[in-house]
Amino acid sequence: MNKSEATTQKITISKQAGDWYLSCSYEFTPSANNKTIEVVGVDLGIKTLATLSTGEVLKSVLPYKKAQNKLAKLQRQLSKKVKHSSNWYKAVVKLGKQNRRVANIRRDALHKVTTYLAKNHGIVVIEDLNVSGMLGNHKLAKSIADQGFYEFRRQLEYKCQWYGCELVVVDRFFPSSKTCSNCGHIQDMPLNIRTYDCPECSLSIERDLNASINLRKRVLIGEVSSECKTHSRHAVGLTVDACGRSAADSSGRSRK
Ligand SMILES: [Zn+2]
Repeated sequence: MNKSEATTQKITISKQAGDWYLSCSYEFTPSANNKTIEVVGVDLGIKTLATLSTGEVLKSVLPYKKAQNKLAKLQRQLSKKVKHSSNWYKAVVKLGKQNRRVANIRRDALHKVTTYLAKNHGIVVIEDLNVSGMLGNHKLAKSIADQGFYEFRRQLEYKCQWYGCELVVVDRFFPSSKTCSNCGHIQDMPLNIRTYDCPECSLSIERDLNASINLRKRVLIGEVSSECKTHSRHAVGLTVDACGRSAADSSGRSRK
């Protein structure tokens, strides 16, 4: 990067898990670029990170799950050492390095996906997932934390502003998975059912793809007002839905 594009503002030197890091921060002026796709619906999942309404599937990385055995082994080794002995410190550094590796892999994967979405799409439609509620489900909690849903949305929010893309966050109670993306029929869809088979119009479609198409349609048919879109672009907390209502205002309606 040449001098006219960026000016270094701050240099930080830090030590993490025994390694030294030097980071430079600089100011840059983001600019909107031409988009290849106008509106895209994005369904976030556990098995796949995201399914787009274009049919594209963005794979999960789940670094914690992959490193779980190694982390457990390092944790066991650490617990056997005498606290504050030199071997204990060595084990602490080893564990720290492995944890950092997991975090770096996750962050890198999320950056690639969020940059791709913001750079190539005019409007990105996502669902306002109740992440804290989902983290309460112990079966899903590890995978959700590993997937980095919070971080996904945080990155998407600022990158959409950088690249001139609009982020629309649809009300979490919108039944994106239960609705047929072809005829609008609504039926129950337990999590283990992976294909949406519509009894009304005979559509048979992969569950997440169906949901992402519904999210896209929500914007195309104008179900999300511009007021909601503007709000969602500046929303910070996950407890506020696309129209600015708190989760408490929306209680009583069923989860998708
Ligand atoms: Zn149908």
